[in-house]
Amino acid sequence: MSGPNTSYDPVQVTPLDADHVEAAVAEALAAFAAATSLAELKAARLAHAGDKSPIALANREIGSLPPQARKDAGRRIGQARGQINAALKAREAEIAEVELANRLIDERVDVTLPVDLGPEGAIHPITALMDQMIDVFVAMGWEVAEGPEMEAEWLNFDALNFIPDHPARTMQDTLFVGEPDSGVVLRTHTSPVQARALLDRELPVYVVCPGKVYRADEYDATHLPVFHQIEGLVVDKGITLGDLRGTLDHFARAMFGDTRTRMRPNYFPFTEPSAEVDLQCFVCHGSSVGNPDQPCRTCRSEGWIEWGGCGVVNPRVLEACGVDSSVYSGFAFGMGVDRTLMFRNDAEDMRDMIEGDVRYSRSLQGLAR
Ligand SMILES: [Zn+2]
Repeated sequence: MSGPNTSYDPVQVTPLDADHVEAAVAEALAAFAAATSLAELKAARLAHAGDKSPIALANREIGSLPPQARKDAGRRIGQARGQINAALKAREAEIAEVELANRLIDERVDVTLPVDLGPEGAIHPITALMDQMIDVFVAMGWEVAEGPEMEAEWLNFDALNFIPDHPARTMQDTLFVGEPDSGVVLRTHTSPVQARALLDRELPVYVVCPGKVYRADEYDATHLPVFHQIEGLVVDKGITLGDLRGTLDHFARAMFGDTRTRMRPNYFPFTEPSAEVDLQCFVCHGSSVGNPDQPCRTCRSEGWIEWGGCGVVNPRVLEACGVDSSVYSGFAFGMGVDRTLMFRNDAEDMRDMIEGDVRYSRSLQGLAR
């Protein structure tokens, strides 16, 4: 910048002469008009309206003019800057409008297009089936009872009248926690929950016990070391085998529609008498038996499907749980949930149930009866 110089002729300060200022304004306006984006306009602004632009440099020269010349020069520069700033603002508004319009076109979202919200999960068929089974009993006013999966051997076997050398107690069948004499097992059935229910609750007892159980079993298409059972227990005054029959038939109809159950004598330590429960085939109702033209996959043309076990609660179990067996009697039954899913939904390989593939869960959703 030039120093103050009182003898200086303003006409001779080039940056401040009218032609020069006019040219600077014209250049600025041309540069703004040529800019087609905010980025380009920013560059033009720095060049023509910034601190180092011709007009800013000219402005700085005003101070070097003699006082009488400053007014004129100041007005000229002021008008020029006003013109430049107004043009800049106007162009900025134009470009912003165009850029917004372009962005709206570029980023347009077609809300009518189908969208993928990511894979949805599904309720596992075992859970769904178990819930459905539980609902049948809750609707009759029964309670749901649950117990630990790591269970005292006494509750898993002794309280249920398994003799000390019963084969089920061996390591071939039962998973012990720690040493075999630890007294702790992974429960092999949901029956210890029945013993717990009798120990914990006031009589009468009407409970349904769903849960996961463990056996030292093979892992193949029809066996899993971990599977699911649902058991029912009633202990009240005057309970008979007839109540058991009625309950099982009701359960069967609630789950499978027009069908019924039958009992075949069997032995379980915790019930006496004991029986196997068979379900009349809910698909062919027995019409496939001896009828090779119309075979039935569901019952393998046998007419009946093995479903579970049941019986009148052994008085020794009642006594072990502190119930007076001369006053109270009861019945119990239990079935495999996984097995029920297999014959209900034609699920052939149990391993699919634990693979965790959501497609499997989804494929069985629609088959719920
Ligand atoms: Zn059948």
